[in-house]
Amino acid sequence: MPRPIVATIHLDALRHNLARLRTAAPDAKLWAVVKANAYGHGIERAYEGLRGADGFALLDLQEAERVRALGWRGPVLLLEGVFEPRDLELCSRLGLWHTVHCDEQIEMLAAHKTQVPHRVFLKMNSGMNRLGFTPQRYRAAWTRLDALPQVEEISLMTHFSDADGERGIAHQLQVFLEATRDLPGERTLANSAAALRHAADAQVRGDWIRPGVAVYGSAPDYPEHDIAHWGLQPTMTLSSRILAVQQLQAGDTIGYGSSFTADGPLRVGVVACGYADGYPRHCTTGTPVLVAGVRTRLVGRVSMDMIAVDLTPVPGAGFDSEVTLWGRASNGAVLAIDEVAKSAGTLGYELMCALAQRVPVAVA
Ligand SMILES: *Cc1c(COP(=O)(O)O)cnc(C)c1O
Repeated sequence: MPRPIVATIHLDALRHNLARLRTAAPDAKLWAVVKANAYGHGIERAYEGLRGADGFALLDLQEAERVRALGWRGPVLLLEGVFEPRDLELCSRLGLWHTVHCDEQIEMLAAHKTQVPHRVFLKMNSGMNRLGFTPQRYRAAWTRLDALPQVEEISLMTHFSDADGERGIAHQLQVFLEATRDLPGERTLANSAAALRHAADAQVRGDWIRPGVAVYGSAPDYPEHDIAHWGLQPTMTLSSRILAVQQLQAGDTIGYGSSFTADGPLRVGVVACGYADGYPRHCTTGTPVLVAGVRTRLVGRVSMDMIAVDLTPVPGAGFDSEVTLWGRASNGAVLAIDEVAKSAGTLGYELMCALAQRVPVAVA
């Protein structure tokens, strides 16, 4: 028998979350962002749950090929555009739409031979200072693209740095609206956080929203809001089983470095899950875990293949009991990935993307 750890992808939850995001921006089209192999879920595995989207947005050309291989004939957008001239051949062949964020990409396009003119998304750097043309240079880039026979249609795009936080999006929105005031074309601005928090404003919704992490059941602004607040459901469950039980006495320690000491009798379950499965090593004593769907805590350090959990709240649990590291337990109890991520000082994004290769994945 294989080790009892398994990740489960929930197609019903993917569909639910897409529908939830649509209610946040009912008149906009929706890119399901599937970069990083659908945030660790697996593009092929998640596809059935995501095909209700209007398009798929990603970065990697091989991932774009995989989306086409699944039979998807609708829009596919390369969020970082092309990296070298021959990428444009693939765009022509597969009908990929691509971001244009720098002069080099315009040069490549101008030199590209194609029968089919491309649809491009011209990116503005409205303040995040990663990709895009500055507002001052944006119009010139637009004019240049508009004159190219290789370009069929230009859409307008920017990305927010603080949609999830206190600073917000007003400063960037202002810059974008000002610099695009009289430019034609569809517009796309909002990631998950902007779609959930700011899409009451039609100018933020634009023509397309681009949610990623919320589609996968993580609250982009946790801990200010959690998935229950946003009406999102976990799309990935990481579960395992107890493979041993230890009875500790006062003064006993557990695991490497003896970082946890029992202050009285304590029943502890040893779980087949460790950092080599993608469970974060930075999680410390107190990190929430579900045993048989009942909330308890991690005790001691995370090792490569095992963790230990306090069985006090679940006296009936023992060898082979179900353990939910994040996601949905068999009894329906939910442990949001965001809570576990916070204990590790990171985000739900990182945990779902870091699910290890060795973990078998089921689709439910
Ligand atoms: C990753 C990404 C998104 C999705 O962001 P989330 O925070 O996961 O919703 C949207 N737009 C661009 C350009 C991205 O790179």
